[in-house]
Amino acid sequence: MERGFAKELPKGDDLVQVEALLTGNWRGATSALISDRRHYWLVDSGMAHEAPLLMEALKSRGLHPEDITAVINTHFHIDHVLNNSLFPQSEVYASQESYQWCCSLYSDLRDEANWEKLTLKYYPELKEYEEAGRLMSQLRKLALRWWDAKRLGDRSRFRWLETTSLPAPIEVIFTQGHVPGHASLVVHDGGPRTLIAGDALLTRDADARVLTMIPHNREQSLADRARLLALAGRILPGHGEEFVAREAAAANDAQPTSLPPEKP
Ligand SMILES: [Zn+2]
Repeated sequence: MERGFAKELPKGDDLVQVEALLTGNWRGATSALISDRRHYWLVDSGMAHEAPLLMEALKSRGLHPEDITAVINTHFHIDHVLNNSLFPQSEVYASQESYQWCCSLYSDLRDEANWEKLTLKYYPELKEYEEAGRLMSQLRKLALRWWDAKRLGDRSRFRWLETTSLPAPIEVIFTQGHVPGHASLVVHDGGPRTLIAGDALLTRDADARVLTMIPHNREQSLADRARLLALAGRILPGHGEEFVAREAAAANDAQPTSLPPEKP
């Protein structure tokens, strides 16, 4: 797992590698590094208090912030983006839809008098969740404490995924159920493909146990999860350890409904 990327690289080896820099868990998101040994792409940058961990993970691979070619954000939830500004030379790839949706959400959460009503704009199914009240006040607390638009990086360096392609080994799959404009990434590395799922697939299983946001659209998010699992191969989920999706799922690629039932 800790293979690292030596800066002195064997010539002629242009294999693309993907690894977790910070492995996601129930309270922190996965930060991943994609490299073709000439370029380094950081996928999701974590919370502000995780900055030292992220820097340490890069340093242990012989990398400095200025070595990062680009930051890619799966979406703009607070636990995925707040160290973007540590890479001021890097471009930031993300969807404009997710950017606008999340910035607007965090701004509305600051509205002392109306925030509860306003969150229904973003989470229209909120009332169907037993835990909604607790989740929303927790989200608001986090937002008031940590959200800082300056930490998203310089806007002149943003490149919107709706209109800009990522470099060749990286393909975007829009997985809109978690938040509108959410982007999962497929990395083609010559061997079995690697999927960096973001929050479209929170963990290998038992998603409900992860203390993160409810989906913007539950039906869509279940469909996204099934679609990603059906791709098979190596998967880095948004809030869990990496795993290899089962062969059986690959065989059922065209029929996602034949996948095992989702956990409640
Ligand atoms: Zn999220």
